[in-house]
Amino acid sequence: MNTRPAIVLLGVLTLMVLPACSTSRSSPGGHESAQRERTITGRWAIVIHGGAGMLDTSMPESERQAYHDSLDRALSAGEAVLKSGGASLDAVEAAVRVLEDDPRFNAGRGAVLTRDGTCELDASIMNGRTLACGAVAGAKTVKNPISFARRIMQETPHILFTGDGAERLAASMGVERADPSYFITPRRQEQLEKKMRELAQPKTSAATHAPSDVTQGTVGCVALDIRGDLAAATSTGGMTAKMPGRVGDSPIIGAGCYANNVSLGVSCTGTGEQFIRNAAAHELSSLVRYQNLSLADAASIVLNQRLDPDDGGLIAIDREGRIVMVTTTGCMPAASSDWRGRRTFRMWDQ
Ligand code: ASP
Repeated sequence: MNTRPAIVLLGVLTLMVLPACSTSRSSPGGHESAQRERTITGRWAIVIHGGAGMLDTSMPESERQAYHDSLDRALSAGEAVLKSGGASLDAVEAAVRVLEDDPRFNAGRGAVLTRDGTCELDASIMNGRTLACGAVAGAKTVKNPISFARRIMQETPHILFTGDGAERLAASMGVERADPSYFITPRRQEQLEKKMRELAQPKTSAATHAPSDVTQGTVGCVALDIRGDLAAATSTGGMTAKMPGRVGDSPIIGAGCYANNVSLGVSCTGTGEQFIRNAAAHELSSLVRYQNLSLADAASIVLNQRLDPDDGGLIAIDREGRIVMVTTTGCMPAASSDWRGRRTFRMWDQ
């Protein structure tokens, strides 16, 4: 007996009675994407990145393998959610948490340091079905900023928290905290010392930033679930030797992170100021939505025509489940997987 139609019908009925997995007190309701009928498509996709940058192509095989293994762990966490019919929002949070806990990446533990030698963590998350979103900037004691961003989205009427207010909110919510020393690693201390020596040298060119300024390691994830819901998440420590208090694009919705079921989900990485100036994440969405461009063409326009060479990269998934992972910096560890069984890893531009 063919049980498949019965399973699909059951799934559709379940969707009609179950509340959405994620709600926001400040329901952004009324948006067209929230009004679209949701049916089970069976298509899911996920993509993650570990930051655009200038990783050394002469890196030993063991180090390259370690990046691969880290990405594999994060991708698997997200895949497990999607394969079992879970929500894209749960998938992006699960994948980013794994990367935040991995000191190899510039997010959570192992984040880069400000010029004061401290960690200030930025993160954001967005639900493409409802346009609900949450973000935190400059967090100093939140172990997993992406989960805090999600709780901000779901439990407050606001979107972005920063400074003392963010720390107090985290404490009152019972969010898992860590001593500021937990986030600091010897590798990031060495990078800061090197950067401070470079900054002390007299400037030899008028360039506002050199390619080597792009710090490898910001993390992000975009997912599409079997209901057609997109979600995106980005988490970072920012740029090495940033001025204390500086906020990059990662917690800015529309700059470093964006998701809308009518177009796509996207997570960006690179020189944050450039992504903010160009509203890069929203620009990508607009090119797909209003110019009817393919995701690949739109990503190329954002990276090559809106942004400057070497500014960074992005990962995105459109509503059909098409995936891009592109950078102009030459290197961006990234990985993707989808319902067709395609699982890919990339490190450098081919
Ligand atoms: N975009 C991040 C920032 O500017 C850094 C990065 O992606 O490498 O804070």
